[in-house]
Amino acid sequence: MRHYFHGGIHPADGTDKLLSNQVPIRMYTPKSVEISMKQSPNSVCEAIVKVKDKVSRGDLIGKSVSFGSANIHASISGTVNDIKTIRDDWGRDIEIIVIEADDKEADTKRASNDYEQGLVDISSYTVETIISKMVEGGIIGMGGAGFPTHVKYETEEDIQYVLINAAECEPYLTCDHVLMKEYGYSIINGILLFIKAASAKKAILCFEDNKQDVAKDFEYIILKNDLPIEIRVLPTRYPQGGERQLVEAVMGMEVPAGKLPASIGVIINNVATAKALSDIVLGNEPLITRVVTVTGKVKEPCNYLVPIGTRFSELIDLSGDFKAKTSRVIDGGPMTGHCIQIGGTKEDLMLSVTKTTSGLLVLEDFTKVESPCIRCGECERVCPAGLAPFKIDYAAIENDIVLCEKLYATECISCGCCSYVCPAKRELAYRITEAKTEVFRQRQERSSKS
Ligand code: SF4
Ligand code: SF4
Repeated sequence: MRHYFHGGIHPADGTDKLLSNQVPIRMYTPKSVEISMKQSPNSVCEAIVKVKDKVSRGDLIGKSVSFGSANIHASISGTVNDIKTIRDDWGRDIEIIVIEADDKEADTKRASNDYEQGLVDISSYTVETIISKMVEGGIIGMGGAGFPTHVKYETEEDIQYVLINAAECEPYLTCDHVLMKEYGYSIINGILLFIKAASAKKAILCFEDNKQDVAKDFEYIILKNDLPIEIRVLPTRYPQGGERQLVEAVMGMEVPAGKLPASIGVIINNVATAKALSDIVLGNEPLITRVVTVTGKVKEPCNYLVPIGTRFSELIDLSGDFKAKTSRVIDGGPMTGHCIQIGGTKEDLMLSVTKTTSGLLVLEDFTKVESPCIRCGECERVCPAGLAPFKIDYAAIENDIVLCEKLYATECISCGCCSYVCPAKRELAYRITEAKTEVFRQRQERSSKS
């Protein structure tokens, strides 16, 4: 069986991950949270609470109003003391619900559940029950674009395999690795629920070979209990965790352009989403927490288990503040993350943790100067989607969206490999991602008119 995919790169030597994966997850509950009604790039929810309402941990506070969004719940108990509005990149007004914790919240010590300590009997859960709990619990993919998980399981396709993405190929980020070290049984119970929800034959749990420690622990539990889960260890290569790249590396099959993996009988979820499913179905707790890596140029890199809505400024503070004089802060990892601040202090960070926040990476600021393309072809060689990035980039600069579409800009997975290797330091991934968004926007506009 082949274990590789087209293109890709080795962007780091592994020492970047050692910064944060050697210390246990720290739990932190802030005194107030700011919960955005936009929890993933293309989703919007509507607030269903008012200022001064009392809410308990797990109460529904935002209802899904568009395809691609999922319910949002209070991540701490307390009082809604403000509802602010901000404008997103698409010109949409997004509500932010501010909850002040009540006195009890900060002291709450949560007991460990049985599904976190061992395997539990899931035979009483039907496919319908699991899927309806996915909807109620507001679960979305926690390793990527944040697509609602239930939509993948409501497919008419015949699903054979559930691929569980434990690759965590993005440099610096270790939130999935530490989650697997500490919440192994939650993840395995969640995988068994995924298999049942998909009526699949088995799951394939896919690690990169830089996580042999957890792969061995999982293998021991799986073999001892004869579970329908196969372990696959893949060479460390970015972007191994991309859905299409994982299917290609593990199954030796390509997902046809414009189609979903379900079209070839596969559903993909990541390990954090498996843990969230256990919490929802077995622990009756909606998706209200997540593990976030805070790393790079901070004094104490670490992973934190925090309520959704925890302010980024508090996470930087917990990690001992910036180490460099001028810092660049990235929401996510260095390849797919977004730069949210250059310079300034931790107090200037205005955003908060969402369900898709995998990490906060602090780098020393540097100014990138682009130069003209020298036609070296490196970007084309590494593109895992098989595109010609320099051509799409040229079309994007010319604002020729029709040509961008013809050059398959919509197949770009925004992995950043092209920008990483470009000797001319061209911002290829950024411009191609913008062009892709514009192609989709124009398609939507055309279909609403017809
Ligand atoms: S064009 Fe898109 S998919 Fe291809 S390397 Fe660049 S960012 Fe990745
Ligand atoms: S890597 Fe950069 S310089 Fe080389 S072809 Fe692509 S855009 Fe041009």
